[in-house]
Amino acid sequence: MSSCCSANRRSEPSGTAWQHPASLPVAIIGGGPVGLATATQLLERGMEPVVLEAGSSVGTAAMDWGHVHMFSPWRYNIDRTARTLLERHGWPAPDPEAFPTGGDLVERYLAPLATLPEIARCLRLNTRVTGVARLRAGKVRNAGRDQQPFELRFEDGQGKQGRVLARAVIVATGTWGNPSPAGSSGLPAIGEHQAADRIRYGMPDVLGADRARYAGKRIIVVGSGHSAIGTLIDLASLAAQAQGTTILWATRSTDLTRAYGGGAADQLPERGALGQRLRRLVETGVVELLAPFSIDEIRRGNGDALTVLSAEGRMAEVEEMVVATGLRPDLGILSEVRTDLDPALECPRALAPLIDPNLHSCGTVRPHGAEELAQQDAGLFLAGMASYGRAPTFLLATGYEQVRSIAAFLAGDVEAARRVELDLPQTGVCSSSRVLPKAADAGASCGMPDTPQSGCCAPKPELAENVPCCGNSARKELAQAEPAE
Ligand SMILES: Cc1cc2nc3c(=O)[nH]c(=O)nc-3n(C[C@H](O)[C@H](O)[C@H](O)COP(=O)(O)OP(=O)(O)OC[C@H]3O[C@@H](n4cnc5c(N)ncnc54)[C@H](O)[C@@H]3O)c2cc1C
Repeated sequence: MSSCCSANRRSEPSGTAWQHPASLPVAIIGGGPVGLATATQLLERGMEPVVLEAGSSVGTAAMDWGHVHMFSPWRYNIDRTARTLLERHGWPAPDPEAFPTGGDLVERYLAPLATLPEIARCLRLNTRVTGVARLRAGKVRNAGRDQQPFELRFEDGQGKQGRVLARAVIVATGTWGNPSPAGSSGLPAIGEHQAADRIRYGMPDVLGADRARYAGKRIIVVGSGHSAIGTLIDLASLAAQAQGTTILWATRSTDLTRAYGGGAADQLPERGALGQRLRRLVETGVVELLAPFSIDEIRRGNGDALTVLSAEGRMAEVEEMVVATGLRPDLGILSEVRTDLDPALECPRALAPLIDPNLHSCGTVRPHGAEELAQQDAGLFLAGMASYGRAPTFLLATGYEQVRSIAAFLAGDVEAARRVELDLPQTGVCSSSRVLPKAADAGASCGMPDTPQSGCCAPKPELAENVPCCGNSARKELAQAEPAE
């Protein structure tokens, strides 16, 4: 009788025969700005990337907020290596001081990049990654784990499943597809699902494609971040054109310092100006502020009517809700690999003290790279907006620096992985009222004005010595390397 292990062995399914990981590509999940920058950086260092993008084109998320003007100008929004590659092909660079919309970012930068032969051959569109694992190792097995390649499962546009093997995985999936609910506890408010047809999450195009939905309506905007602010300002323009448009603004906090921003002191002036415009709209009564207003329940009335109930005992009668309460990473695809995430922010644990909004009210963060972004499974990294988890302050310039460092690390260039090559816009004002005593220990010093010399807001060339080492090979290797001069 044959043993259970030898009986009826099937031949290996195509593409899954064991290969030495070094011969495999580096998989990048997500074809947004950071995913494409990663591919460019890897190519530059002679590695083979494969970019798996769920959408039918690159920059799917940015196209969704295509009508929104970015608050950082082109010069911060283009990866340096990608720029060099594009210019080699005769690409007409946009004015570095102009402010693109999300649509411009895709049409003038990401789409041209994706059509370059070097990138196009690495790109697999309509490919949604549904899971990542160590090939035939599961999550529990230790023996030989690091020698096993990664297996990425995906579904194509027709729902057909497939797999890709990779030597390393960079998760650049963003967070746009996973908005937070209106409920103030982080769970959907009671009745939120039932009101789904009257709720939009994120930033609807209220002056363009979605105008008819909002013109003349009574609308409540929930949240106090830049998406909420942008929508409130656009709704105010709509109210000036369409009679009867009424705007309510619900936020949990009564401290609007962060929402109103740094004004003229904000080193991203576009962003500072938005906060100031909102302040004026509130002061002149164009926007009715409801604060504190912590949403507990949403009740449907007749037709489009909604009653929104707050924990403070207030209520608002509206016809439409725009919920902009933040974004979350979708970590489901990583459930079979070993991650090392901060339990609150859901970002890499080592990154959390650098970006924690409880400590930082400033928009910038000390540069970081492979060391902070590496996960417990060697060769697995988070990057881009996804790497910030629930923290709202991600900037593209930071993401490009992250993936420069990761590519250098994967190429074995530890010195370059540790080096800082970041030109970061300094943003915002630091709010001293939010400083916790431990902020200084964590390397943050938000109690002082945001100057290039000051604490958390200043790019610092050294790596985070205080960050706990979690046994990850990238971190160990970088920590053991001689500090860069
Ligand atoms: C409205 C708005 C304005 C912003 N303005 C600025 C600004 O002015 N300056 C600035 O620096 N930053 C800005 N940001 C922040 C940030 O730079 C952008 O969100 C940026 O698009 C993040 O890039 P990313 O590549 O990390 O993620 P994304 O652009 O979100 O790209 C992620 C990609 O991954 C794909 N994907 C997701 N899941 C899967 C999966 N399972 N399998 C395969 N593919 C998947 C998505 O389809 C998407 O194409 C802004 C963000 C928003 C939302």
